[in-house]
Amino acid sequence: MSNNFPGVDWLEALDLGAVTVLTGADRGKYPHGNSVLVQGIHHNVLIDPSLTVAERGLSFPVDHVLLSHVHEDHLPGLSRLPGVPVHCHEADAIGLTSLDGLMTMYGMPADIETEFRQEILNDFYYAPPRDFSTFSDAKVFDLGGVEIEVVHTPGHTRGHCVFVIPQARTAYLGDIELSGFGPYYFDEWSSLAEFEQSIERCRSLDADHFVTFHHKWVISGREQFLAMLDDFANVIVRREFSMLEFLEEPRSLDECAAHRFVYRPQVEMTFVDHVELRSAQIHLDRMVRDGRVTQMPDGKFRSC
Ligand SMILES: [Zn+2]
Repeated sequence: MSNNFPGVDWLEALDLGAVTVLTGADRGKYPHGNSVLVQGIHHNVLIDPSLTVAERGLSFPVDHVLLSHVHEDHLPGLSRLPGVPVHCHEADAIGLTSLDGLMTMYGMPADIETEFRQEILNDFYYAPPRDFSTFSDAKVFDLGGVEIEVVHTPGHTRGHCVFVIPQARTAYLGDIELSGFGPYYFDEWSSLAEFEQSIERCRSLDADHFVTFHHKWVISGREQFLAMLDDFANVIVRREFSMLEFLEEPRSLDECAAHRFVYRPQVEMTFVDHVELRSAQIHLDRMVRDGRVTQMPDGKFRSC
């Protein structure tokens, strides 16, 4: 199962034929991640060069880099690949133009943003690549005997994509990470509705191996994948169910955020309050729109 692909010197590499999973530190737990190397006759492509790639380096040639989306943890390894052409979906291109461009994708409040900017520069080695171009849905990269097909799956970011490598029966899922935490759709560049549509689209992915950048690593077997995709989608359903219960008493937006429907109460990170507020706003907007929640004259919300 491990480290038996010729020419790939990597402590924990999983060989799936033309695809090699370069397992990140802590099995790809953030801030690390699992990068994917795809080897064709003519080209080697590295997908999502992780922080582990940045720290460890690479012992094989890389001709092109593909990004599932533009987020700080998916591109630190570019620091080891100067001059290598980078490709991302057109909707995320702004994140590769400058740090300011990248920050517009997150949409953080100023107090958190200042600190995060420094982290992106110091801990994730962010630098805009000199040579980058964009692709759109259904683009196929021909590596020589091996292809990478782009499946646009927005929601996490506007330009998030899944990559399918038919010759290896593998789909790389990026940050559709199938974790118990559920989908992350709290950035300025995120969309809950699009994320749900993208999860639906993933149900028809034709593959036997499914690779996530974080947490779950490699899932082999379609049935297992589909069950995990259901669990992942259900995190959203359960969140709204819990909110509707909470809103049997009228509550304000701030009360919903303070109750925490995303993170557990003991989690202490600087961005938690911001994410809880975003999440509460997103779900209240949607549930008011579809008639599950009503807004009272005093501004509070109540389930119908
Ligand atoms: Zn991401």
